[in-house]
Amino acid sequence: MTEMGMPVSIIEQEERLLKRVTAPVMSKFYKDLHESRGVKIFCDQSIETINKIDNNYEVLTNNGISISTDLIIAGIGAIPNNKLAQDSGIKCKNGIIVDQYCRTNVPYVFAAGDCANAFNDLYGYAMRVESVPSANAHAKVIASSIIGNEVTNRELPWFWSDQYEFKLQMAGLSEGYDEIHIHGKIEENAFMACYGKEGSLIAVDSVNMPKNFNNYKKALANSMRLSMDLIKDPNFDPSSIFSASY
Ligand SMILES: Cc1cc2nc3c(=O)[nH]c(=O)nc-3n(C[C@H](O)[C@H](O)[C@H](O)COP(=O)(O)OP(=O)(O)OC[C@H]3O[C@@H](n4cnc5c(N)ncnc54)[C@H](O)[C@@H]3O)c2cc1C
Repeated sequence: MTEMGMPVSIIEQEERLLKRVTAPVMSKFYKDLHESRGVKIFCDQSIETINKIDNNYEVLTNNGISISTDLIIAGIGAIPNNKLAQDSGIKCKNGIIVDQYCRTNVPYVFAAGDCANAFNDLYGYAMRVESVPSANAHAKVIASSIIGNEVTNRELPWFWSDQYEFKLQMAGLSEGYDEIHIHGKIEENAFMACYGKEGSLIAVDSVNMPKNFNNYKKALANSMRLSMDLIKDPNFDPSSIFSASY
């Protein structure tokens, strides 16, 4: 919308953008990026009132910011609607509970995608992931279950988001990381945040580094243990992970 010349304001109740999914360094990069394109960003603010005045709306925040606009987009998250499943005797908690074969507790009833709180064999616990790759992975597991194969759900959670000419790609779950290493150069708009826990890589966020991202993603998806010491080595080339040249 900002590229189409419309003035855009973002109101975020957390103290930084993308707080739920990424590190402060990435939040700052995206805040700076959007602000450099003319987007006004107000963090630490929640919406208190929306008044309709003629054909416009006046949005008032708890900290006294007032914005006049003719269009409001509320991107404030989603809660899975379990009602149909629950009323049918299917167990639900944060979505429809399914095992590693995407089976519910009711025989011959499966669940996939955003609504499924699915056991993930790669992590050893259930998670509800809202992304296209996750929904696709569930679909394959279900198709396999139906024809009697025992393929389990072990999809590495991963996401992408294209903002302007910047490709953000994220793989793995960074929650609980105890160190972070920046590979590449933030000021050159091509870098990766590599998240480590107890000395090993657990997740990566990548901006405009799709080749490196794919190597790390493949390594994480295959449960390879990549030590953070290796990742921090300036001579380390992620493409060597699969070419065995390092
Ligand atoms: C604005 C936005 C941007 C996104 N961007 C990305 C992205 O960049 N990358 C990414 O990986 N993911 C993204 N996602 C998430 C992604 O779209 C979802 O994770 C994915 O579509 C989930 O697939 P699904 O099949 O579970 O659900 P959906 O794609 O939502 O499909 C469910 C379908 O079921 C239908 N339905 C619902 N109830 C009933 C009923 N009672 N009877 C019959 N039909 C019914 C719905 O109409 C819908 O068509 C985005 C989502 C949104 C909203």
